Amino acid sequence: MPTQKVCLDCEQPIYGRSDKKFCDDNCRNNFHNQVKQAEDKTLRQINAILKRNRNILLRLSKGDAVEIPIQTLIEANFNFHFCTHTKSFNKQSWPIVYDMAYYAKSKETIAIQRVVSEKISSTDKLWNLYNP
Ligand SMILES: [Zn+2]
Repeated sequence: MPTQKVCLDCEQPIYGRSDKKFCDDNCRNNFHNQVKQAEDKTLRQINAILKRNRNILLRLSKGDAVEIPIQTLIEANFNFHFCTHTKSFNKQSWPIVYDMAYYAKSKETIAIQRVVSEKISSTDKLWNLYNP
């Protein structure tokens, strides 16, 4: 005999169709609302990290192409685990946070560059920053 199925929301035994997952609409709605709230919370947390990272890069670079000590980023609580995407320049992968790209040029130095457009050609400043 199969084990008694329980409601995914309230965990009370459920009866009826074999594919039934909830007691009723209230339990189904409650369950899906809680899943959505958890997802929203995760997205809010990640978005907050990304925004803080972008603000740090923008503040330290003042929007220009700069090179700064990595220690400065660390002290600003930059979170190196999160970026929005990466882009390859001269076979080097630059992490990008929205429109701010950075790249570790050495163990001590980080290059920061604002990316104004996704259409960056090989003659753009970002390329030249890495190959002065
Ligand atoms: Zn239920």
